Amino acid sequence: MVPCPTCGDAVVWSPASAFRPFCSERCKNVDLGAWASERYAIGDDTDRGREGATPEDDDSDR
Ligand SMILES: [Zn+2]
Repeated sequence: MVPCPTCGDAVVWSPASAFRPFCSERCKNVDLGAWASERYAIGDDTDRGREGATPEDDDSDR
């Protein structure tokens, strides 16, 4: 048994649990949504910093 990452409910780790490690499709969607929005927020911040430099500059700096 593993705890559902979203609600902490015990999930049986078996092929019968289609949404493992989540307990249900709803919990799976909630977690994926949170992860996606978090990633978008970070990506947005990185994008804003990169916009100042040109791609050529970034390449020669490496
Ligand atoms: Zn859950």
